[in-house]
Amino acid sequence: MHATSTVYASRIQRFRLPRVCVPLVGEDPARIVERAESLVRDNPFLEFRLDYLTNPLAGFPKLKHFLDLHPEATVIATCRRAVNGGKFKGSATAQLEVLTKAAATGFQLVDIELQTAEILKQQQLIDLKDRVGVILSFHDFKTTKKLEETFTELQRYPADFYKLVSTATTLYDNVQMMKFLQAHSAQYEMVALCMGEQGIISRVLGVRAGSIFTFGAATRGEETAPGQVTARELRDTYRIEMVDAATQVYGVAGDPVAHSLSPVMMNTAFRRETVNAVYLALHAKTPKDLFACVNDIPIRGLSITMPYKQEIIAALSNSDALTRQIGACNTLVRSQDGKLYGFNTDVAGIIVPLEQRLTLQGAKVLIVGAGGAARAAAFGLKNKGAEVFIANRTPENAQALARQSKSKYMKRADVGKSTFDAIINATPVGMGNGKQSPLEDKELNTRYLFDLVYSPAETKLIKMAKAKNIQVISGLEMFVQQGARQFEIWTGKPAPVAEMAFVVTKALERLAAANGKEPSPPPQEAAEADESGATRIASQKPTVAGKKKAKAATHKPAKKAVRKTVKR
Ligand code: NAP
Repeated sequence: MHATSTVYASRIQRFRLPRVCVPLVGEDPARIVERAESLVRDNPFLEFRLDYLTNPLAGFPKLKHFLDLHPEATVIATCRRAVNGGKFKGSATAQLEVLTKAAATGFQLVDIELQTAEILKQQQLIDLKDRVGVILSFHDFKTTKKLEETFTELQRYPADFYKLVSTATTLYDNVQMMKFLQAHSAQYEMVALCMGEQGIISRVLGVRAGSIFTFGAATRGEETAPGQVTARELRDTYRIEMVDAATQVYGVAGDPVAHSLSPVMMNTAFRRETVNAVYLALHAKTPKDLFACVNDIPIRGLSITMPYKQEIIAALSNSDALTRQIGACNTLVRSQDGKLYGFNTDVAGIIVPLEQRLTLQGAKVLIVGAGGAARAAAFGLKNKGAEVFIANRTPENAQALARQSKSKYMKRADVGKSTFDAIINATPVGMGNGKQSPLEDKELNTRYLFDLVYSPAETKLIKMAKAKNIQVISGLEMFVQQGARQFEIWTGKPAPVAEMAFVVTKALERLAAANGKEPSPPPQEAAEADESGATRIASQKPTVAGKKKAKAATHKPAKKAVRKTVKR
């Protein structure tokens, strides 16, 4: 009788349960209740980690008060033993006592590990299941292995939900986990995901493979497992409540990618243009792992970042002429028949912001650096008819790029002796702490300074240029424009550039604040003070006043070809 009613309850819950459960920890029950009170309105599905409490049994009166006040909330009680990766130092019997008390207190679900089930008597488990919904769980904190064998073990014990959590050490581990879910979720109530930074695919896409819910941290800093993203990110960035079988999967692949701003920017674009798609950060430690994943998930498109921009070319069925010329691909499209096509949108990321401000035909442009970004700049600018000079720390690299792109090599010693229409910093100098500059003040003889570095938003080089009244272009514009072009290639729709720029600016501000620095002015504000056409990034449709301003700011190029190069 009891057993039947619990099964019935869990069937109801399957459809009632939200997709995101927020785990809460604290040594003091008052602290857990306080956090729960502040979160429950937006997060009606919570997990109380009773194993973090100094004395779990003593905490129940406070927890009961919360449960009585919030009948709308579904709350899991978990008291994981230390031997199984939790904090509870007691025996399996002591754990059962806590969970039984939790059931009597009003928790709807309890989580109990397979290892505890193996110690307890079968009847003890049946008794527990008669009182409360039971999640029987297994956690592998190192690998994703033997999923089927573990599941067979789990099935030996009565439970309402079977929860299997592993650790992804490759992207393909996510595929294994989702195949496992697909094989069993029609028959059993399953919760499964991979922990670790590489487990993000399973955290977001696991729900469409059959996991009834997943876990999201209350805030950054309150994670209870490696790789856990916040509940807010799951809902707002990855739109987990809407992920379904038709959702297209995109991502940024590289090593590392954990701090990439591409997911927040591209997911915003998909949401704004109502494209049923999700964009994930894929930490690929090898191209082989990446390709195995691309084929099996299946992924429709990828942004390719360091260190795979060159390596990826060998795997492409075809690519555009510019990608072949540059020898680097940052955008991948997977066609219906599985073939991979490559594009390079870094070129657009550099050319578009420059073209919005000056005519490139005949313009004199210095590129500092000779790596991947410099290659995109050199070939892109030459195609537009610019006169391109390349200076670099290692002269041989600059000479080689100059030769290949039909540009001119410039000795560093000569940089200060010339004037330019634009100088582009294509080195990482200035990134992070913002205290270094690739050029000295006296070398900044230019009308436009484009720093491809975008974090921090205002580098030392940008500050130096502003102090000399040079018009500046931030690396954020390149970042947004290369992403906008990717969005257009993938969806065939115009990219919502203003929204993309806005969220990236906000993310950079948060980053700066977290690093204890004053946030740099967002591009919109910078654009107010900036007489150049930078306003265009803040709004795709510039105002009439903005257009006039931008037109007035379109200067003549330095030295020669003055009339020919002014944009009319
Ligand atoms: P890369 O291929 O590694 O090339 C780096 C270049 O910078 C090389 O020419 C290198 O000179 C030079 N360099 C490195 N450290 C230096 C130092 N301490 N002093 C002087 N020169 C130095 O990198 P990449 O892909 O071209 O990217 C370069 C930078 O562009 C990135 O760090 C990033 O900030 C920026 N970027 C921005 C975007 C965007 O969307 N805004 C996109 C791509 C890149 P050697 O030849 O002597 O090694």
